[in-house]
Amino acid sequence: FVEIKNAAKSFGNLQVLRDINLTVERGQIVAIIGPSGSGKSTLLRAINELDPLTSGEVWLEGVQINRKLPPRQYEKHVNQVRQDIGMVFQHFNLFPHLTVRGNITLAPRMLKGISEADADALAEEQLLKVGLLEKIDEYPSRLSGGQKQRVAIARALAMKPKVMLFDEATSALDPELVEEVNQVMKQLAEEHMTMVIVTHEMDFAASVCDRVIFMDGGVVVEEGPPSVLFKNPQEERTRNFLRKHL
Ligand code: ATP
Ligand code: MG
Repeated sequence: FVEIKNAAKSFGNLQVLRDINLTVERGQIVAIIGPSGSGKSTLLRAINELDPLTSGEVWLEGVQINRKLPPRQYEKHVNQVRQDIGMVFQHFNLFPHLTVRGNITLAPRMLKGISEADADALAEEQLLKVGLLEKIDEYPSRLSGGQKQRVAIARALAMKPKVMLFDEATSALDPELVEEVNQVMKQLAEEHMTMVIVTHEMDFAASVCDRVIFMDGGVVVEEGPPSVLFKNPQEERTRNFLRKHL
């Protein structure tokens, strides 16, 4: 469903990803863990062309995301494929000058040409799901971190993406707000949303994800179901990392 083939990425002389091969099946929930600087965010951002690969391929449901195209066609192609990929960052990235409603309805209206009424209905549907319908006319500055992040998730979901990418969605939150965001992600997991989740929360990864990928130094060192990777890691580097983080 999501396929990454022979992915490599350099920033100037710094090689950040090397020979990464990864397939995520439809409905699968994959966690990416690893030390700071190991390339987790870069890999995630390569999936939606925010950080295009230096070489290799990214595919989503039979469409190559990182096709080589002339600039104008490329831009159109990327705008198209990004509609299928929801992304939630560590820092909420809500538009501060727009209400919750404005934040959620913007992309469906601008990119999909959905009517205001239909976009409103979409916003209400998604806010209900994340438990924030009563905040629809609030501005982001008046929301807690956890609420902002749930709005960010609702905003991504309003585009009806085929896959959701989460980059440490809870790591900027106060501890007491983490759970409400994790709950929303768990609910998505139960609905079989395809998800790739960069996280440093090993308990969450173990309880929600089908597969865990351990990255270090720009390579996938080891991967497997959480029951194997966390309980019986095969590689020394994985054991070292888990010793510090479990
Ligand atoms: P963290 O857990 O701290 O978020 P990470 O695993 O997400 O780390 P990345 O953000 O993917 O790591 O970074 C991998 C490497 O790429 C790091 O050495 C980083 O300094 C470098 N890097 C990331 N983005 C850029 C950029 N735009 N320009 C140059 N180097 C970059
Ligand atoms: Mg990162």
